[in-house]
Amino acid sequence: MGLIVQKYGGTSVADVDRVKVVAQRVIKNKEAGNDMVVVVSAPAGMTDELIELAHEITDEPPAREMDMLLATGEQHSIALLAMAICNSKHCAISLTGYQAGIRTDNVHSKARITEVQAERITKMLDEGNIVIVAGFQGSTDDDAITTLSRGGSDTSAVALASALEADVCEIYTDVDGVYTADPRIVPEAKKIDTISYEEMLEMASLGAKVLHSRAVEFAGKYNVPLHVRSSFNENQGTIVTKEGEAMEGVVVRGVTHDKNQAKMSIFGVPDRPGIAYSIFKALASAEINVDMIVQTVSKNEKADISFTVSKSDLRDALEIFKKVGENIGITDIAYDEDVAKVSVVGIGMKSHSGVAAEMFEVLAEEDINIQMISTSEIKISCVVKTEDTEKAVKAIHRKFIPS
Ligand code: ADP
Ligand code: ASP
Ligand code: MG
Repeated sequence: MGLIVQKYGGTSVADVDRVKVVAQRVIKNKEAGNDMVVVVSAPAGMTDELIELAHEITDEPPAREMDMLLATGEQHSIALLAMAICNSKHCAISLTGYQAGIRTDNVHSKARITEVQAERITKMLDEGNIVIVAGFQGSTDDDAITTLSRGGSDTSAVALASALEADVCEIYTDVDGVYTADPRIVPEAKKIDTISYEEMLEMASLGAKVLHSRAVEFAGKYNVPLHVRSSFNENQGTIVTKEGEAMEGVVVRGVTHDKNQAKMSIFGVPDRPGIAYSIFKALASAEINVDMIVQTVSKNEKADISFTVSKSDLRDALEIFKKVGENIGITDIAYDEDVAKVSVVGIGMKSHSGVAAEMFEVLAEEDINIQMISTSEIKISCVVKTEDTEKAVKAIHRKFIPS
């Protein structure tokens, strides 16, 4: 008995039958004596459809109105789930992100949660209600609706679990947990029973979309225990928790890929102090995340810099360079959207050398060219051509994950 926060993703509430199944699972937990807060996503595919709808009207929808539109997907789900629960003689109340007290900064489409004002939820729980909250959305100080970036309902759930000091935050999805690679690409991938926040954060940031990376960041910071599991069965899933002693024994925990990447190169960058700062400061101010920065050795006091951004940020990044580039004398800009990032992640790499060489060997054997490389203590990433992604992930998985 305690307080449980559950989050159900798009496939788990894809249609009315699925919503009824979720309602029964929630009720079972409530009848076992738990207080229940349930976060839901829009039905699978609805967020994409809403984006397409906006683009039928304009190529550049105003960010505020886009968030207003996208937030409706989650509202659809909370109302239906509350109805399904009320139908079974239990009391359920649905709340939008705003009503649930989820406050964010004002960066539309990728807002960060700044505060959760949980009094309203606590009061409703005390009155015996099951509280259903729309994921993926919050509101600014000016009461504008914001969204938390794609996949952000996981983050809503973790933020609520932390604010309410929940006993556990369960993330229900369409796979049995976190696997050693995306099971859609590597059918032999294995379910991971326990994974550290640190490794999970790397995996999520590097493309394992089973969890939103900010959700993992938040969970690690506030020590929220996560249980990732399937809403289609009762199997035990994956526990995401603090690093345990046994965890360093595994060198590579997982292999990830991210096709939402673009490579940008800027040429003729003056090689003097302050230039890199002015370039990357401009991108950071626009909330554009940059990764894998490579600078060539300078010739005639000019260098070339290549880096990756997410595909969805490419357009904004190009706009910024048109302005910044002129000021600092960049001679040319190029970009390539036909790239993907393939990575291996594992805490064990901290104490185990040679993984990078082995990964490059596998890619060489598969005749896959590596365009860029970046490493940290617990990960190695390579940029390859998009068409090589699946082949690379399968081969790297075969090499590092024992069958
Ligand atoms: P939800 O709508 O429930 O949030 P998502 O589609 O966001 O679900 O995430 C679940 C999907 O993540 C799975 O169907 C799977 O294809 C994909 N995925 C990618 N990498 C992994 C991984 N390492 N382990 C499990 N699933 C993964
Ligand atoms: N519905 C949103 C999306 O499709 C948020 C989520 O599912 O977590 O990205
Ligand atoms: Mg998701």
